[in-house]
Amino acid sequence: MPLVNAKEMLTKAKAGHYAVGQFNINNLEWTKAILLTAQELNSPVILGVSEGAGKYMCGYTTIVGMVNGMLNELNITVPVALHLDHGSYDGAKACIAAGFSSVMFDGSHYAIEENIAKTKELVAICEEKGLSIEAEVGSIGGEEDGVVGAGECADPDECKMIADLGVTMLAAGIGNIHGKYPENWAGLSFETLEAISAKTGDMPLVLHGGTGIPEDMIKKAIDLGVSKINVNTECQLAFAAATREYVEAGKDLQGKGFDPRKLLAPGFEAIKATVKEKMELFGSVNKA
Ligand SMILES: [Zn+2]
Repeated sequence: MPLVNAKEMLTKAKAGHYAVGQFNINNLEWTKAILLTAQELNSPVILGVSEGAGKYMCGYTTIVGMVNGMLNELNITVPVALHLDHGSYDGAKACIAAGFSSVMFDGSHYAIEENIAKTKELVAICEEKGLSIEAEVGSIGGEEDGVVGAGECADPDECKMIADLGVTMLAAGIGNIHGKYPENWAGLSFETLEAISAKTGDMPLVLHGGTGIPEDMIKKAIDLGVSKINVNTECQLAFAAATREYVEAGKDLQGKGFDPRKLLAPGFEAIKATVKEKMELFGSVNKA
């Protein structure tokens, strides 16, 4: 099945009280592991690409070529969206031109007026091309490609303003952070999430920084209207740990253990296991 935008899968998720996972990709192994797991679990999935990962993978057209090739060669029939994560205005336009099915425009670092103006312009382009678009209000803590956010809670009125522009999904800071959570993290602000949900109605809400949020908080966030959860760091940690174990056991020195197809296999399986665990937690299994 060709790429789809994220609109239908998220509308269904919101109505069905589950969330679709966005898993960020870094290379072929990552992409293949996520797509195969989604297919095995009959789950919709969103492949996330940050601008940094886009550069690393030789540009957006390379990524579109790789993903479309895999959808075909692996006979993927579940809904798959290819989504730009934390896009700049120019980055969003480049991904639209390259064949992504969905983009995020992160204007959270602009004043609200400028965020609105730029989001509005991109909404019109996406509407015309049948793509989905995610906007962000209130920066999300931690570091994303060198941009460090303070982890603020979004203003529910500003969320309503951006939601009314016709975006498909809305990311709002509710105390969540990218990367590993610090020991003294205060947890998600459900008060903020409830207020945003009340103002934005049917709008699917997006929870960034899904790595390390306790399971009960994830479930509560889904109950309160979160329909898309972004997972990035957790797959990286799982891949690194499995690869470390392989090398530390000296397996790369045994026989043909240096073959990248063998060397990268434990990390590949670790990504698959992480994605499976998340899809089960988010409730998207058998929702394709
Ligand atoms: Zn994010």
